[in-house]
Amino acid sequence: MREIIEISVNDVKPDSVDILKAQGISPGKKPSLKVDILLKSAMELFLEFSHPIAIISEISIPEFEVVYCGEGLNERETPLDGIVKKADNLALFATTVGDELGQKIDELLKKNEFALGTMLDFVSSAGAEEIADIAEGHFYELLSKKGRISPSTGILRYCPGYCGWHVSGQKKLFEFLRPEDIGITLLYSFLMKPLKSISGVIIAGEKDIHIFEDSYPFCSKCKTHSCRDRINSLFKE
Ligand code: SF4
Repeated sequence: MREIIEISVNDVKPDSVDILKAQGISPGKKPSLKVDILLKSAMELFLEFSHPIAIISEISIPEFEVVYCGEGLNERETPLDGIVKKADNLALFATTVGDELGQKIDELLKKNEFALGTMLDFVSSAGAEEIADIAEGHFYELLSKKGRISPSTGILRYCPGYCGWHVSGQKKLFEFLRPEDIGITLLYSFLMKPLKSISGVIIAGEKDIHIFEDSYPFCSKCKTHSCRDRINSLFKE
């Protein structure tokens, strides 16, 4: 199965709480009037200029192990080493908000509209995560329709550049998935173009397979420890 998923921009409008949280404004705290106006303007620009789209492709464990090995630059031990072996179903994915939004951010910054440009950058990053959530949910639905999901199934995504998976892993991921078909290309630096794109693997399996300690050597440099929230989200009712 390989599928391109057309997504309505109205389905990926990011939550203002998440956008403000990323800027250090805690939930429940009212932003200043200036921030509020900037956020509203940036949201309007996001709705006008983003073109969300995703691609997913199912992949077997042996095939993924080749992709994951990448250029041989991963950390010696990583969470995915163990998780993949216990997975039931895997799919590579790539998602993007499209090129026009990035161009709009660049245009604002070049015109010295830093506040609005920066706010639009935050909104776009949050929107990109929403699109990846939709791709993840789509894979879950596909598996569910085929009876390959049980109440104890947990589904999470993992991306090159994080948690010991070297960013150069993008090369093999792109060779397998071919996200060029939805307008995403890979730069020499292994960054994606458009910049607000996300790629990786979606892993479905027993919820417990996603549990690991955040005690790998590279975890000491991690600013977010976001794996804790992601694991916890699997067990929320
Ligand atoms: S602590 Fe950070 S680097 Fe370590 S596994 Fe969690 S998210 Fe990844």
